[in-house]
Amino acid sequence: MKKTFLLITVLVLSVLSFSQIKYVFFFIGDGMALPQINSAELYLTKINNKDTKLQMSKFEAQGMTTTYSQDSFITDSAAAGTALATGYKTLSGVINMNADKTIKYETIAERAKKNGMKVGIISSVSLDHATPAAFYAHQSSRSNYYEIAMELVESDFDFFGGGGIKYPKGKSKNEKDFYEYAEENGYKILNTEKEFDNFEDKNQKVIIINEDLSSGSAMKYDIDRQDEFSLSDITKKAINILDNEKGFFLMVEGGKIDWAGHANDAVTNIYDTLAFDESVKKAYEFYEEHPNETLIIVTGDHETGGMTIGFAGTAYSTYFDRINNQKVSFENFDQVLSKYKKQNASFEDIKHLINENFGLFFPEDKEKAKDKGMILNDYEVKKIKQAYDMSWKDKVPNTEYTYLLYGGYEPLTITLTHILNEKSGISWTTYSHTGVPVATFAQGYNSEMFNGYYDNTDIAKKLFQIIG
Ligand SMILES: [Zn+2]
Repeated sequence: MKKTFLLITVLVLSVLSFSQIKYVFFFIGDGMALPQINSAELYLTKINNKDTKLQMSKFEAQGMTTTYSQDSFITDSAAAGTALATGYKTLSGVINMNADKTIKYETIAERAKKNGMKVGIISSVSLDHATPAAFYAHQSSRSNYYEIAMELVESDFDFFGGGGIKYPKGKSKNEKDFYEYAEENGYKILNTEKEFDNFEDKNQKVIIINEDLSSGSAMKYDIDRQDEFSLSDITKKAINILDNEKGFFLMVEGGKIDWAGHANDAVTNIYDTLAFDESVKKAYEFYEEHPNETLIIVTGDHETGGMTIGFAGTAYSTYFDRINNQKVSFENFDQVLSKYKKQNASFEDIKHLINENFGLFFPEDKEKAKDKGMILNDYEVKKIKQAYDMSWKDKVPNTEYTYLLYGGYEPLTITLTHILNEKSGISWTTYSHTGVPVATFAQGYNSEMFNGYYDNTDIAKKLFQIIG
């Protein structure tokens, strides 16, 4: 009798220890819903000439997730991040506090830390931006960047990496320096590629900032990236540094999928979605070594741009290979244009830029076009000329008309991305977010909990249940 009891106890204990969660990966594609995921897959399918799926969409559990905030069917990243990190709805713009701003919510990353796991936070945008902030900060406004950065240090989390800090000395530039504060609190700051490559100290809290940042203290768009570390490089580094006996929680945000969506730039959007999926692959490789103790969740916080597959002018056809004619992000093309603008270059003088950077042919050059679909029609030429006139003004007039056409972006650039995207069979409805649900994928420990149709707050609730 005693023997049987002992045997059962040993069995139960071994089952319990066998199915213990140890490693949690939480990937958030900012502004990534099904159109972004599927566009990336169709692009790969077209250029590989065979059916190609992203790593995330091959996961064993698949869900659909509603994203609305407490005050809008169309959320912003702060309210969505709060929902994903804490399980609570709040107002758009608020980070981990209730609508009255009287209660601070505990985040899943803080719980993981309390439970003895190591914690890492990665983003391709600045580390004080709404989505990463939603895992360590509690602020009445997502614009409190300096206060958010101070909370980053106070979180005591083990690993931060990706973009930089927007206002290290506050907006007034005379507050206590963020970097000094971080070092006083035991963080090592790395901001060169060499330091990044050589860093291997598992017992050192660290903040790793990409050497060559672009606007908004963000990492470059992946389409513009040269030798700088990528989102997957830093994900791999985090896995190596964080791996320990008690496990870890790692959040990775693909933040510029959203920015490219706001700018209605499809190829830049797709490249950043692919870079995000490459970092999901790093987690998947780790999962394959630790399948019983690892859970990977991939979701989006909302859709951005109203991106869709299909355009009136291309009807039932798509030409995803055409977007490859675009060589740089909208942001880099803006910089190219600004040089010509300074010299007040004529429309004739900039036509070659349009051909070189977007592969579009003006009617007079139509003989040179290999793909006749890349020849501009009269309507498109007219739109480009109109945008050129607008871009070459000292200041673009701020009217409803110009907003609908250009969304506050460089008129000529956004007109060119619109035309190229439409010729590829991709179109956009807004320069903001939309309210459509996002896809959620899960692999590993208790992943079946993430099948079905549920709200973004449920993801955090399930995660709290899983890590205890
Ligand atoms: Zn967002």
